[in-house]
Amino acid sequence: MDQRDIDLLSSSKLKYFFKLLERTSYQAQQPWPMAALIAKGTKIIVCAPNKRKTHPESQVCKDFSFGFHKPGTHAEICCLLSLERDFSLRNHDLYVYRRRNNGAGLAKPCINCMNVILSSTQLRRIIWSTGNEETPYEMMRIY
Ligand SMILES: [Zn+2]
Repeated sequence: MDQRDIDLLSSSKLKYFFKLLERTSYQAQQPWPMAALIAKGTKIIVCAPNKRKTHPESQVCKDFSFGFHKPGTHAEICCLLSLERDFSLRNHDLYVYRRRNNGAGLAKPCINCMNVILSSTQLRRIIWSTGNEETPYEMMRIY
């Protein structure tokens, strides 16, 4: 973890983002209480909850040229789908949060989402909640 990561993750921004994601997942009122957002620094570009476990508009995903073969539009993909196709995600970070009754849960992106993210975007980092109080997040640096 380099200094930039420490600056980011020790800041109140992460708490704020997780709080916002908690609220977003709550408002979505679905049984998969996950939400994700994409931000550049402190600027939030898009925020979305999990739509469904299996997405009814899976064709949308296939057509989006993300190489998203297995539908099931998770919050991460909902965020990506709501951006313009040519939107550059360079220097942008993805935050993923899972809401539990008593706080956060593990929100590591599933293998399908991870494949899409790694193969089709230029996101800088992925940060997800863990549900662990001592280390409330994990981070993967991509670029
Ligand atoms: Zn997923």
